Amino acid sequence: MYLKRLEIYGFKSFADRVCIEFDKGITAIVGPNGSGKSNIADAIRWVLGEQSAKSLRGGKMEDVIFSGSQTRKPLGFAEVTLVLDNSDGALPTEYSEVSITRRVFRSGESEYYINRTPCRLKDIVELFVDTGIGKEGYSIIGQGRVEEILSMHAENRRGIFEEAAGIMKYKLRKEEAQRKLEKTEENIVRIEDILAELR
Ligand code: ATP
Repeated sequence: MYLKRLEIYGFKSFADRVCIEFDKGITAIVGPNGSGKSNIADAIRWVLGEQSAKSLRGGKMEDVIFSGSQTRKPLGFAEVTLVLDNSDGALPTEYSEVSITRRVFRSGESEYYINRTPCRLKDIVELFVDTGIGKEGYSIIGQGRVEEILSMHAENRRGIFEEAAGIMKYKLRKEEAQRKLEKTEENIVRIEDILAELR
């Protein structure tokens, strides 16, 4: 699996639709300070489900939408599509090419798509879990991330090893099952209360 293409529209400094093709091997992005290199990395993390505006160097999520310049009006939404080659079947889907899209409007409303079909953020997170690619994946090492990992709380550092070992998906499923169990227990208590009142 490798990144094939990144399409950006209205995201941060990218007011026009920009398509970046990644070849196999190493791609380096160079440019003057403030030209938008880090915004490209932010776009990749954002489309993979990043929910923290702070970690995208903004105050709120709308800050990722192009805010206008001296010559251009602000845009109403931002959209990023990441296309991955999956001919080795590394992603658990039958498609040999997988595209994921995220769109956010000024109202704060978000949309997610896998291969142009609407989906939930959860579906995107599940698609990438244990591949090392997710927003918390070890394949994206930002500035200062190495020091951050070294100075992390042992429990958080363990999360990185769990992702690499491929057990994160079971951990997430366990957490979901526990949440359902708690809800069910609450419902049982409520039903018992109602029954007691009826008796
Ligand atoms: P450096 O080499 O200094 O790290 P860089 O090439 O990584 O710089 P970025 O940090 O990616 O640059 O881009 C910063 C630019 O993006 C700034 O000029 C900033 O004004 C612009 N920018 C960020 N968010 C928005 C937005 N919502 N709308 C318009 N422009 C934005």
